[in-house]
Amino acid sequence: MEVSEIAAKRILTPSRIPGVDYSLNPYLGCSFGCRYCYVSWMPWVRDRGRRWGEFVEAKANAPALLREELKRATPGMVAIGISTDPYQPIEARLRLTERILEVFRGNSARERGFRVRVLTKSPLVLRDAGVLAELDAEVGITVTTDSEGIRRLFEPRAPPIPLRIRALRELKRRGVRTYAFVGPMLPMDPEGLVGMLSGAVDRVVIDRMNYP
Ligand code: SF4
Repeated sequence: MEVSEIAAKRILTPSRIPGVDYSLNPYLGCSFGCRYCYVSWMPWVRDRGRRWGEFVEAKANAPALLREELKRATPGMVAIGISTDPYQPIEARLRLTERILEVFRGNSARERGFRVRVLTKSPLVLRDAGVLAELDAEVGITVTTDSEGIRRLFEPRAPPIPLRIRALRELKRRGVRTYAFVGPMLPMDPEGLVGMLSGAVDRVVIDRMNYP
């Protein structure tokens, strides 16, 4: 795994995703390296000349950039983790996502009308449950199947499904709004998945496999 630090030019990227005004990605690349990841087919990944999942570039200046951009940006929904996982393993050391959330909190972003949504596969998000609850952020954890066998085929380096469900339950217990992102929907026992998610989430979002 190759980890480097870069200086980004901007951090709030206008988004065309329905219901999302800005995407915010603290990292380029993702060490989870899921086999279906649509980001891996993007030209900038090919330009790097490295295999998807084997490099991560941390936007070291992201908190400072965000502080500046929040002064001028029109309030709206900010989705963190559209093209990377904001709680992939390197986050435990760099704490970039945590510092980004602190900038939102320190700049009274919620009071000004900025809303935050986070999407991850990692229980590391629990570390930030306090600030997420204060921001009234919504946290999604991706759960693509109820089968660990299927998960290992498609997401071999991502956390096991039971740990993700446990994290959803704990987030909810600690006052964070939660959703399960079932996308792409992989082979599963649907009733089994519903049973696992019961009581752990406020809503479920389902997506199909998006082939290039
Ligand atoms: S965790 Fe998300 S961003 Fe990372 S490789 Fe998997 S699908 Fe892509």
